[in-house]
Amino acid sequence: MSFNIPKTEKKRVVIVGGGFGGLKLANKLKNSGFQVVLVDKNNYHQFLPLIYQVASAGLEPSSISFPFRKIFQKWEDFYFRMAEVNAIVAEENMIEASIGDLYYDYLIIAAGTVTNYFGNKNIENAALPMKTVTEALLMRNVLLSNFEKALTSDCPEEKQALLNIVIVGGGATGVEISGVLSEMKRFILPKDYPDLDRKQMNIYLVEASSKLLGVMSANASASAEKFLKDMGVNVLLNKKVENYENDKVIFDDGSVLLTKTLIWVSGVTATTFDKLDPALLTRGRRIQVNEYNKLEGSDNIFAIGDICLQTEENYPNGHPQVAQVAIQQGELLADNILKIEKGQTPVAFHYRDLGSLATVGRNRAVADIKKIRTQGWIAWMIWLIIHLRSILGVRNKLVVLINWVWNYITYDQSLRLILFTQKKKR
Ligand SMILES: Cc1cc2nc3c(=O)[nH]c(=O)nc-3n(C[C@H](O)[C@H](O)[C@H](O)COP(=O)(O)OP(=O)(O)OC[C@H]3O[C@@H](n4cnc5c(N)ncnc54)[C@H](O)[C@@H]3O)c2cc1C
Repeated sequence: MSFNIPKTEKKRVVIVGGGFGGLKLANKLKNSGFQVVLVDKNNYHQFLPLIYQVASAGLEPSSISFPFRKIFQKWEDFYFRMAEVNAIVAEENMIEASIGDLYYDYLIIAAGTVTNYFGNKNIENAALPMKTVTEALLMRNVLLSNFEKALTSDCPEEKQALLNIVIVGGGATGVEISGVLSEMKRFILPKDYPDLDRKQMNIYLVEASSKLLGVMSANASASAEKFLKDMGVNVLLNKKVENYENDKVIFDDGSVLLTKTLIWVSGVTATTFDKLDPALLTRGRRIQVNEYNKLEGSDNIFAIGDICLQTEENYPNGHPQVAQVAIQQGELLADNILKIEKGQTPVAFHYRDLGSLATVGRNRAVADIKKIRTQGWIAWMIWLIIHLRSILGVRNKLVVLINWVWNYITYDQSLRLILFTQKKKR
C-alpha cells in the first residue's frame, strides 16, 4: 500500500487533518502552484458545533458532514487520501501513515484534539464522548436503546440507572446537550413512550468549577444555569467526578449517582504523533508554535488550530480551542507559505475574536459578541443564523433549516432510529 501520488516539479504541501483549519488552508491553496495533499482519517469534513443535535436525534449525520472528494472535484494537482497519520519524521521530511509514507516540502499539522479522560480507564471504557459524528451516532443509539430497555425492565434500580443521564463538563457542549435532552424529556418522551413515567428521567449536568460556560461572561454563565434549571436540568457545580464503576458515578466528595448513560464532554487533549520531538509539546499536549505557526527548530513544519499553542499579548496562555482560531490561522498560513516561496516576509498571526455563543434550548441561548451581551431569544436567533451560515454545502444548509423549522413548529423530529450495523450488533 502507498500514497500513489505522482512526483512533479511542484513543491508538495501535505495537510494532516481536514477540520476547520486544514480545510480553510486547502481552500486557499487551491490552484496556487503547489501540489496539495490532504490526509484525513475520515472521508468527510464534520461540522462539530452541531453534533449534539445528531446525538439527540435532531439531525441526520449527513446534514453536518461533507465528503472531501465532493469539495475537491476539479481542483488541479490536488490529492485527498483517507489515512491515519501515525508519525512525523521531521529529519526526513516524511509522514508515516496507515497507507504508507509520504514526503513533503511543507507539512501542516491540523489534526485537532481527542477526548481527555484524564487517565481514567473505567471512564474511557464506559463513557460516551462527543467529538465525532460516529460518536454522536453511538450516543443516539445508546440513549434510545436505554429508553426501550427502561420500558421492559422489571428491576427498579436498573430502570432508574437507564433513565438517569449524567453529563460531565459544563462547557458549551455540555450545556447544549443537557438542554436538548431536557426538551426530549418534555416533548418526545410523553409521545413516544406514553407508558414510561417521564418524571423518572433525570438529567444531571456536572461541572468541577463554580460556573457553567467558564470562558464566557458572568451574565452568560448565570443565564445558562438559570435556563437549564428552569428546564428541569439538575446543575451540579463544584463537583468533580473521580470514577465510574458498576453503573455509578463516584464524586470526590464521596457522593454517588446511578446511571447507565455517562456523557463525557469534560475536556480535550491534542492529537499526538510518534517521532515528533516531545519537547515541542506543551499544556494539553498542544504543539508550541511561533507567531507564524511554525514549529521550533523547523523551516517547513507548521501546526494550526486546536492542536497548536500560540501565544500573543492578549492570549498569554494560548488561544481558545474554537473554530475561528483554526480558520483564521489556516487562512493566514496559506498566504504566508506563498509569501515564503516568493522570498517575502510572512505576517504574524493575531486572533480576531468574533465572540462566543451557546444555545440552551428553543428560544434560549447566550451570546457574548464584542461588547454586546445578550441572552434569550435574540441570542438564539444569532446562534441559528451563524450556525446555518457556517455549515458547508447548500443542500446541508437547506436540510438543517427544514429540520429546525419542522422541529420548531411540531416540537418533534422523526429521526429516532436505533441503527446498528449487523456486525456491531453481534
Ligand atoms: C461537540 C463540539 C462542539 C463544538 N462547538 C463549537 C462551537 O459552537 N463554536 C466553535 O467555535 N467551536 C466549537 N467547537 C470547537 C471546534 O470544533 C474546534 O475548535 C475546531 O474543530 C478546531 O479545528 P481544527 O481544524 O484544529 O481541528 P478539527 O476540526 O478537530 O479537525 C481535525 C481533523 O483531523 C483529522 N485527524 C485527526 N487525527 C488524524 C490523524 N492521525 N490522521 C489523519 N487525520 C486526522 C480529523 O478526522 C479531523 O477531520 C466544538 C467542538 C466540539 C467537539
